[in-house]
Amino acid sequence: MRVLVIGSGGREHALAWKIAQSPLLTKLYVAPGNGGTENVAENLDLDITDHAAVIAAAKAHDIDFVVVGPDAQVVAGLGDDIRATGITCFCPSRQAGQLEGSKSFTKALCDEFDIPTAAYARFEDEASALAYIYTQGAPIVIKADGLAAGKGVTVAMSVEEAEEAVIDCFSGAFGDSGAAVVIEEFMEGEEVSLFVLCDGETLLPLTTAQDHKRAFDGDLGPNTGGMGAYSPAPVMTREQYDFAMAKIVEPTARGLAQRGTPYQGVFYAGLMLTEEGPKLVEYNARFGDPECQVMMMRMESDLLPLLHATATGTLKGHEVHWKDAYALTVIMATQGYPGSYGKGSEIRGLEGLDSDTLTVFHAGTMRDGNRLLANGGRVLNVTALGVSVKEAQARAYRGVDAVDWPEGFSRRDIGWREIARES
Ligand code: AMP
Repeated sequence: MRVLVIGSGGREHALAWKIAQSPLLTKLYVAPGNGGTENVAENLDLDITDHAAVIAAAKAHDIDFVVVGPDAQVVAGLGDDIRATGITCFCPSRQAGQLEGSKSFTKALCDEFDIPTAAYARFEDEASALAYIYTQGAPIVIKADGLAAGKGVTVAMSVEEAEEAVIDCFSGAFGDSGAAVVIEEFMEGEEVSLFVLCDGETLLPLTTAQDHKRAFDGDLGPNTGGMGAYSPAPVMTREQYDFAMAKIVEPTARGLAQRGTPYQGVFYAGLMLTEEGPKLVEYNARFGDPECQVMMMRMESDLLPLLHATATGTLKGHEVHWKDAYALTVIMATQGYPGSYGKGSEIRGLEGLDSDTLTVFHAGTMRDGNRLLANGGRVLNVTALGVSVKEAQARAYRGVDAVDWPEGFSRRDIGWREIARES
């Protein structure tokens, strides 16, 4: 199989790294890729927002199967456009992808199919949104109703903070994504992510993970795309998992199929483990970044046939097996991220780091001859396996400490919740 992976983050490096190990693979491309994907695939310098250019490249390289990584391409319907040319593609349809692209789409689906989630209301003007906040009080959650790169959500602990978030939203802080706001009941509990493949009908649960959204230790500082993750997440009990599958993921798959827009792809369910049981925080319609990195590190099975079966409606009968280990990844980011940061600093010390238990996935890196340069906010994902989260963490930080990159920073406490429970 000739395969093209779309994207340039750590998630896509991890997918490409795993696909590269498949005996079914004959040739692997990543577009546009990064300084790490070129170790396992051939990078194609493509503007992935230009669907015609992606399709032309897929045809020129005789691609059999395209795997779409990033949310923006899912929501923009790259999958539909590729499938229209007869090429198989792992990517939910534009319509089913609204699960990620529109908070109110998902909320309406939850209403229709009785899926447990936070109570909510949606507003298209500032005055009604503010009036609603005054009746509800704080804590309360304000969300821009579109894709906002994880930055459109404010968990407001006071009414003043909620007011400010609403005003920001309607004053265009998130562009078109802020033309409407969803205001939600605050849910209390620990968060966990659940990943499940769905071929339109058949579900194949993958695993759980927990990420770390805040920039600094102790879950402080601004929200980011994710500063680290580990998998599995034992905080979720078997009972909670069964509940989440039966009451959240299965009704979502059934509901979307019933509406005539079946979901083919990976459900990434963000769940809050509340006292009343797991509730849906949000869905994403693609693999998590950095959760994908820890999942790929742990996956024993061949990923390629699983993705292909998901895309072709033939998942029934497939199984997935995992290493009997925890995986943990630490993100090394450029100082300043998630605010403004410089590009082009040199990264040294990666040679010889990769082993059976440690892999460095690249995100924002590029090669300049023999030099490796930082080229983004999140730059490296130092990912390790261990018999416990604590062991995986110790190995990951040994890797982080071996990287010579003074312009970078990382959190030092990835996995802290589970390590506290382990001890
Ligand atoms: P979202 O983009 O919807 O996942 O929201 C980003 C983050 O905000 C989530 O990962 C949660 O930490 C938090 N959050 C979102 N909705 C709620 C809610 N209703 N109650 C408490 N926290 C929430």
